Amino acid sequence: MSEAKTFRVVIAGGGVAALEAAIALRELAGALVSVQLVAPNTEFSYRPMSVREPFAYAPADQYPLAEIAADIGAELVVDEFAWVDTEQQIAHTTKGVELAYDALMLALGAHMKSPFGHGLTIDDRRMDELLHGVVQDVEEGYVRSIAFVAPARMGWPLPLYELALMTAARAYDMGVHADLTIITPETAPLAIFGDEASEAVGELLSDAGVTVITSAHAQVPEEGQVVIQNGETTLNADRVIVLPELFGPSVRGLPAGEHGFIPIDEHAKVRGVDRVYAAGDAADFAVKHGGLAAQQADAAAESIAALAGAQLTPEPFRGEIHGVLLTGRKPRYLTAHISGSRGYSSQITETATWIPATKIAAQYLAPYLARRADSPNAA
Ligand SMILES: Cc1cc2nc3c(=O)[nH]c(=O)nc-3n(C[C@H](O)[C@H](O)[C@H](O)COP(=O)(O)OP(=O)(O)OC[C@H]3O[C@@H](n4cnc5c(N)ncnc54)[C@H](O)[C@@H]3O)c2cc1C
Repeated sequence: MSEAKTFRVVIAGGGVAALEAAIALRELAGALVSVQLVAPNTEFSYRPMSVREPFAYAPADQYPLAEIAADIGAELVVDEFAWVDTEQQIAHTTKGVELAYDALMLALGAHMKSPFGHGLTIDDRRMDELLHGVVQDVEEGYVRSIAFVAPARMGWPLPLYELALMTAARAYDMGVHADLTIITPETAPLAIFGDEASEAVGELLSDAGVTVITSAHAQVPEEGQVVIQNGETTLNADRVIVLPELFGPSVRGLPAGEHGFIPIDEHAKVRGVDRVYAAGDAADFAVKHGGLAAQQADAAAESIAALAGAQLTPEPFRGEIHGVLLTGRKPRYLTAHISGSRGYSSQITETATWIPATKIAAQYLAPYLARRADSPNAA
């Protein structure tokens, strides 16, 4: 087939959803599509593993995007998507480049904001710099209490729990005591993973000596102070670690969803807009999680492949959530089906129930990374 006749797909983003969509498209539509990957970052970062950095583990893996693009026959455009003209089917970049598309996929991620202006807000780009000192102070007995606080609008479910459990394990190993408290708006610990997993995580936390305050609307009005339910309870802690609040990219040219997220349907198509898809943390799905980002990307890739002429029937996004909870001891593997922001048919095991058993369960990206020689952390 000549280049002029290929179906032009522009994918904006260089994270999980973008790469999953790009690999899926190549597998599902082969030479029917040409793919341009537009991203400002030159490396794909395996964000979930950053929680281990403050505990003196190796940094989270980084993979050169140029290599990944070459492997899957995509053109890498190092630039930033700026806005879309949906009538002309043109994606505009911040450098002023115009990319014509037959289908556009937006996988732009979310913006992290510090919700309270106080406390240490988790940022995976500098996790070690941010929290290594805190872990050291716990080890040396200078820090005796830490509050781990999630904002009213829950962001990523796992990292706050992982940091608390890993800190508890480290304190135990060093023979020091620290009061560790998780304060969360969830009705139960990791409620998104369903009742069974949530109860088991609750027991795990209790065994580790971590207190959990659920259904909590917290504020951090000053350093070291957490106020819950408008003053009903006040908690003082030597350090306060905070999950960031997430906001969508507010894309010019598309309908605006709440908090700037892009509204999508069950095929990850942007509502009311032809040939534009969105997936991952940028989309308006209530739960933000890498595995879900990948499933949305798969749904979009199937729809785009069908538009390009591939013989398949696009399936809607499944909403099955897999999570590996790092605990500082044996990890736990959690699975649930989700509806809205609730999990059901919940499962928790000490061995993986999906293959490859990666932190980010992604049908195409996970096996691709596992095949690469430079992926010790991903598995
Ligand atoms: C500490 C931590 C632990 C986590 N643990 C887990 C876990 O255990 N399991 C799990 O499944 N998930 C986990 N998550 C969540 C997971 O990392 C995210 O849900 C996932 O990265 C979302 O993927 P995404 O592609 O939507 O967005 P991102 O990964 O944020 O990628 C967005 C990409 O878009 C690029 N971009 C931004 N703006 C533009 C633009 N204008 N034009 C072009 N490109 C742009 C960015 O540079 C980036 O490459 C964790 C997250 C964190 C921070």
